[in-house]
Amino acid sequence: MTSFASPLFLDGSPESESAFREAVQAAQETILFCFANLDRPYSGESPLVLSELAKGMNRTFATGEALDAVIQQVGQSILRHSAVVTHPACIAHLHCPPLIASVAAEVIIAATNQSMDSWDQSMSATFVEEGMISFLCDLFRYDHHADGVFTSGGTQSNLMGLLLARDAAIERHLGWNVQKQGLPPEASKLRMLCSEVAHFTVSQSAALLGLGHQAVVTVEVDSDYRMCPEALDRKLMELEEKGLIPFVLVATAGTTDFGSIDPLKSLSERARKYDMWLHVDAAYGGALKLSSLHSYKLDGIEYADSITVDFHKLFYQSISCGAFLLREKSDFKYMQLYADYLNPESEQSHTPNLVGKSLQTTRRFDALKLYMSLQHVGVERFGSIIDTTIALASNVAVSIEQDPSLELLHKPSLNAVVFRYVPHQLPASRDYEQWSDEINGHIRNTLLLDGIAVLARTKVAGKACMKFTLLNPQTTLHQLEAILEQVKGIGSHYEIEEGQKQNERCKTFS
Ligand SMILES: *Cc1c(COP(=O)(O)O)cnc(C)c1O
Repeated sequence: MTSFASPLFLDGSPESESAFREAVQAAQETILFCFANLDRPYSGESPLVLSELAKGMNRTFATGEALDAVIQQVGQSILRHSAVVTHPACIAHLHCPPLIASVAAEVIIAATNQSMDSWDQSMSATFVEEGMISFLCDLFRYDHHADGVFTSGGTQSNLMGLLLARDAAIERHLGWNVQKQGLPPEASKLRMLCSEVAHFTVSQSAALLGLGHQAVVTVEVDSDYRMCPEALDRKLMELEEKGLIPFVLVATAGTTDFGSIDPLKSLSERARKYDMWLHVDAAYGGALKLSSLHSYKLDGIEYADSITVDFHKLFYQSISCGAFLLREKSDFKYMQLYADYLNPESEQSHTPNLVGKSLQTTRRFDALKLYMSLQHVGVERFGSIIDTTIALASNVAVSIEQDPSLELLHKPSLNAVVFRYVPHQLPASRDYEQWSDEINGHIRNTLLLDGIAVLARTKVAGKACMKFTLLNPQTTLHQLEAILEQVKGIGSHYEIEEGQKQNERCKTFS
């Protein structure tokens, strides 16, 4: 079959229908044979080999090629060297195996290609998204004043929260309209507060919002990595003395490394007292609202002026999928713009055009994924999946704590577990911390490049650590213990081999 004669679009003809069926079927088979059945979380191929492989890919852009051949090539050259997110040992990041329901929804989203910016591009989809937002507002115990929008993820949701906080504060404190007039001269006095382990997108947003990293004031955390309210009080006093304007408090519900949840109630009291916007970054921890065992950990989140929640993390949706929730919907006015061709002002009352609530114009119908997933899985089972992963994290933390060759860095509050390998001996003339960092880095890379496990690395108080992020409910304690055995095996092997080499080198030089 020549490719140029094949139907390119669905058009209701039998030829186009079979081309669609065959293409989706071929994509399916490739996923099953080149990805889903892989027995390792990563092929282990080095970045160099993969970059050569990509360069060597036979590009037939000039003439085109049959789609089934294209799909096969994708399977062989690309999918085989993917992070196998469905594998129980792919446990590095907040990077989930997607629910089958979410994947099926993706096919529908892609094929029907609705765009959420204006109602005339997403007639029923607009109302489904509104319905999902209303479900989410109820879930987070917001009242009928609330509203929200689906976003590409936490980065965008955090930026939106901080943008609205900035503009509301500048209007309130200075009677100035940022949307029309840009930043006022006093903007350099504005300060944002967050904990020292808040997500980097807080600083990134500060820069994007024209306030600069200098506007971010970080507050110390307690031994469980939660913002310390007394330290916040001290920072607020300092800012007051310096005549600076703290306008937003960012609380994190689920920090990326530790899963720690800031004390939301105490922070909401401070936010009220000091007239600050409270934004809760619940990108990771927001999913606890589905769990009957753990949802109490988010008590107080309903006092937030805005909330970030990600669905492509603990809600098991394929990337990308997130939401921004706003306690007082009229605050969207700081972003609202009208375009005659999309959302004319005169039309606002009878047809919803969601573009006014988003930083994106053309936007995917990601709400369908969450809708289909909840509709299929149900909140109760969803909650128990999350509970399983939290129990797994606390169980493996116990194993780590009891092992003298390993050090646990925190008591997990969600399903992330940070730990490190503890070296037994120190080669001559080596600094202990440096040596430990080197070994921990080596262990993590070996696990990755031998295709044994994909773990994350992070630093805690300057020390190199490894991290499990246990989103996959099918990962077992037994599998994690086997990975820990490998961690210790690789670590002690390196200590012996590399330690000896270094000792000998020392001898020859001395
Ligand atoms: C993941 C994450 C973000 C960023 O979200 P993206 O969806 O990756 O854009 C922000 N904050 C926290 C706490 C996160 O875990």
